[in-house]
Amino acid sequence: MKFDVTKKEAVILDPAKRMQVKSIPVEVRTDPLTGRTSRICHFRRLTFERPDLTRLIEASRTTCPFCPEKVLEVTPCFPPEIAPDGRLFRDDQVLFPNIAPYDGLGAVATLGSQHYIPMAEIEPQRIAGGIRLAMDFFHRARAIRHPESVYHLLSWNYMPASGSSLIHPHLQVFASSTAPNQLREELAAAKAYYRQHGNTYWDDLVAAEKAEGSRYLGRMGRIDWLAGFAPFSVAGDVVAVVENCRTLLELTEDDLKGVAKGLTAAMAAYDKMGIYNFNVCFFPGTEKDEFARLHMVFSPRIYYNPVLATPDTTALRTLYNESICVGFPEDIAATIRPEFHAPHHPDRGA
Ligand SMILES: [Zn+2]
Repeated sequence: MKFDVTKKEAVILDPAKRMQVKSIPVEVRTDPLTGRTSRICHFRRLTFERPDLTRLIEASRTTCPFCPEKVLEVTPCFPPEIAPDGRLFRDDQVLFPNIAPYDGLGAVATLGSQHYIPMAEIEPQRIAGGIRLAMDFFHRARAIRHPESVYHLLSWNYMPASGSSLIHPHLQVFASSTAPNQLREELAAAKAYYRQHGNTYWDDLVAAEKAEGSRYLGRMGRIDWLAGFAPFSVAGDVVAVVENCRTLLELTEDDLKGVAKGLTAAMAAYDKMGIYNFNVCFFPGTEKDEFARLHMVFSPRIYYNPVLATPDTTALRTLYNESICVGFPEDIAATIRPEFHAPHHPDRGA
């Protein structure tokens, strides 16, 4: 396992110090699996001012299609072979077709009736319930042998900087025979790794990270948590790897608890930095991909300039597909690790 780092420096004459020579470090890191690079640069403190969101949240509530008084009126229904009642339900959570689907089989699941839940207050059992509801949908798609029931994909855009157009917390749930780019590249690389080494890349990664230690965050059930070596996010990524598991369909109740608990630990840690937006994606294989491991990436999102609502996805990220991270992942891991070992809070049990 090679964690390749190329150290560089940019030399400038610093106007704040009478044009004295100043060296600014830059690291280019190469993801050990895919070779994708990520730059550690633009160093800044990972503390952000959180704006008062009260007015934004209140204004969005009146027109919210996911609030309980509207959700069953304005959201579409599935044909009966997928959902006899049109939609799927668990507690106060509802799953229905995505009116703007990404593929032949797309759904959205609300995370309950509450219009806004601050990031650090989302209960683990609510997250576990949302994933369970998505699994209900995937199991139905599989049972009717739907042609898109190949990759079972689950993602979460939380709050506007993540790309979410709604405040109301919800999951994107879709099944597809076409793996999205990053997943397809990871699976191809993991397949090549398996053929070359006879091991699953993700098992080796967890072992290497555990031994090295600086990015390892902890284990919950059979889920290992890491800080990403070459992150996607400007504030670092939190990665979960589910041992011996290829697809979302295989997650057990214990796994759901572990995923939810780790996610809330990540949210609590980033909340302390003033961050309040994030993306989550699950990366499964197909059921037959012996080289695949279900893993999940939690990627916090910020505004580069909150006043202008400048997103953190610039031309570099969008068109060159190059990530930057403004802190060393090892330092970020040290900051967030305590939350993964925090004593269990009685009000927030999974
Ligand atoms: Zn709402």
